[in-house]
Amino acid sequence: MSSETKSNFLQSSWSDFIGLIWPECCGACGLGLLRQEKTLCSNCRMSLPQTADWQHADNPTARKFWGRVPLRAAAAMYVFRKEGEVQQLIHNLKYKHREDVGLLVGRMLAARIQQCSHFEGITAIVPVPLHPSKEKRRGYNQSEVIARGMAAVLGVPVFAHALRRRTDSNSLTHLGRIERWEHIEQVFEATPTHDLRKHHILLVDDVITTGATLEACAAALLRHEGVSVSVAALAAAV
Ligand SMILES: [Zn+2]
Repeated sequence: MSSETKSNFLQSSWSDFIGLIWPECCGACGLGLLRQEKTLCSNCRMSLPQTADWQHADNPTARKFWGRVPLRAAAAMYVFRKEGEVQQLIHNLKYKHREDVGLLVGRMLAARIQQCSHFEGITAIVPVPLHPSKEKRRGYNQSEVIARGMAAVLGVPVFAHALRRRTDSNSLTHLGRIERWEHIEQVFEATPTHDLRKHHILLVDDVITTGATLEACAAALLRHEGVSVSVAALAAAV
């Protein structure tokens, strides 16, 4: 056995041994991964519920924003249901330090965008920001992780701090629904860290529920001259 073969053999025996005591788990269903699987198991890659948003510009995700904010395009990859595996995937990404999940789904999202003419010409990616104190507590912004995965495929920069969240959304929970809706407009502001003029910005979030957060973020970006905005999310509630 050559020294290289021997070292490969030792390396794979070692990772098998580590795998026995601390198996890598699928970021969605939580089952142990096979050696050839990475981050998500083959079954989840095949069976997580996908939207058909990529096929049409006027899809259900884009329609959530009609009459609210002018977007070039909008789409989500997965259908979000409570208690489903997509919810588990997002939970792992947000709270269990599974940044590998965010990077992978970011790459998958970007691959879909590349196939859609309505998303053409994106020049920068902006993730929906967390409030700085929340980002510090969590250690990272899950939307920024998705954005980084996308940027690696699309070859465009991530403007991670182009938007700032002024208020922690938890502080809005005491408000009524209408008041909260009005208040969210004030929550986000564009920062002077990047010259956003004339960019086609892809705004990225983990889940779209009402769309109010993305609407407020898009409105803040659209105040800059010549900016157009598209939206991509990992999942959307239907
Ligand atoms: Zn799985």
